[in-house]
Amino acid sequence: MFENEVIKEIIEKYRVLWAIEHALSLMSWDTETYMPKAAASDRGIAAAELNLLSRKIMLSDEFTSLVDKAEKQEGLNDYEKGVVRVLKRAIRIYKAIPPKLLEELVKTTTKARIVWREAKEKDDYAMFKDYLDKIVKLCREIAEHLGYDEHPYDALLDLHEEGLRTRDVDNIFNAITSDIKSILDKVLSEGYYPREHPLERVKYDIKAMESVNREILDILGYPKDRARLDVSAHPFTIGMSIYDVRITTRYEGYDFKRSLFSVIHEFGHALYDLQIDPAISKTPIGSGVSLGVHESQSRFWENIIGRSREFTNAIYDILRKHLEFLKDYDVEEVYRYFNCVKPSFIRTEADEVTYNLHILLRFKLEKLMIAGEVKVEELPELWNNTMDELLGIKPSTYREGILQDIHWSMGNIGYFPTYTIGNILSAQIAYHADRDLGGLKNLVSVLKLEPIREYLKEKIHRWGSTYEPKELIRRSFGEDINPRYFIEYLKSKFLSR
Ligand code: MG
Repeated sequence: MFENEVIKEIIEKYRVLWAIEHALSLMSWDTETYMPKAAASDRGIAAAELNLLSRKIMLSDEFTSLVDKAEKQEGLNDYEKGVVRVLKRAIRIYKAIPPKLLEELVKTTTKARIVWREAKEKDDYAMFKDYLDKIVKLCREIAEHLGYDEHPYDALLDLHEEGLRTRDVDNIFNAITSDIKSILDKVLSEGYYPREHPLERVKYDIKAMESVNREILDILGYPKDRARLDVSAHPFTIGMSIYDVRITTRYEGYDFKRSLFSVIHEFGHALYDLQIDPAISKTPIGSGVSLGVHESQSRFWENIIGRSREFTNAIYDILRKHLEFLKDYDVEEVYRYFNCVKPSFIRTEADEVTYNLHILLRFKLEKLMIAGEVKVEELPELWNNTMDELLGIKPSTYREGILQDIHWSMGNIGYFPTYTIGNILSAQIAYHADRDLGGLKNLVSVLKLEPIREYLKEKIHRWGSTYEPKELIRRSFGEDINPRYFIEYLKSKFLSR
């Protein structure tokens, strides 16, 4: 795998950076799960110090000159080229953003997160808007330092999804928006997929739901000796290595699909981390290539497999066994409950049909913010009007509108489009898997999921970050990312029964 002597030396030197990352991941997992509340401030200091150390090592003359030397080597194989690409990119980003600016962003967002939480609780946008203004200005500065060809937003997109441009995202939304709207209209007028379902209000026993989740994870193939399931306020996945991947869920005590599908979603992320080629673990290319590709894996399992009729049929008896109240609901009802469709205010609760419209709304606003074409005072009204235009509803509170997401308070502008990349890719991958495996439905209906896991491993997981996202998709599926598959998927699931 790694034969070039310079690359081998880099990988040896990289080991300490990997170890710091490993420690930071474990610390972050602990922060979200078991850390005593009072430890937050010290934990923040410790993490900041480790990040600084990592930056120092990466930018040391010794390390950067080795990477430069590697770049000039002839005959590097794809893995070795991947190592150079990933490190060059990390060094470029580190070098471009002045430490003072980064420090200012960290300081601002640390405060802004707390203020945002309170502003959301009190439904008070005025409390938050000056922070948002500052964050937008800092992000614009960062974009200038990073550089871009066409739109300053390109620089921020690339930060979250290597190689993604504003123009790509524009093209995707141009290709799907009007179809999504017409699919939505039809689904709503047909009424087979309900807007809401009585099961959304039914309470469950948390112990029973835990048993459901554990049994579902067994079926999906979540390896107990290399992975954990815990509880946190917001579900997430953290992979320390291919031998230690952890997911979380939450138990709200009602509307059991929320916990179930968060588990299946995070399983998709976890499987990616678990199936990376052991030979590239602990190297610069030993993790998932991007947020969008990662999200494609979670959405594939959550939506395309998890919410399918075949999967619902196959797990119905397990659900019945643990959730006593399901005796009043047959499998058809449970399937419809899993697949409610309605325009709603909250992105995280949005269904498969409407979800990307929530992303489009944010994408439109972020582009204007980063271009300096809108004032923070104007954002709430712009949010509401755009939501009306896209989904036909207008929030009456900030909490259900502009204050709903944590992302901006954390300085994550340019992040949202990776969710749509994930949704689009999940359908494209499903199309190819279906064709190459001789029918996904046949496999799912008998819960024969191993060939699907193997397929994803072969096409996506094993490569880690060897290829940049666009290149990975091209190599694995012989074509570029194509949003039409997503529209075809929606049509065949929601319009042709
Ligand atoms: Mg996710």
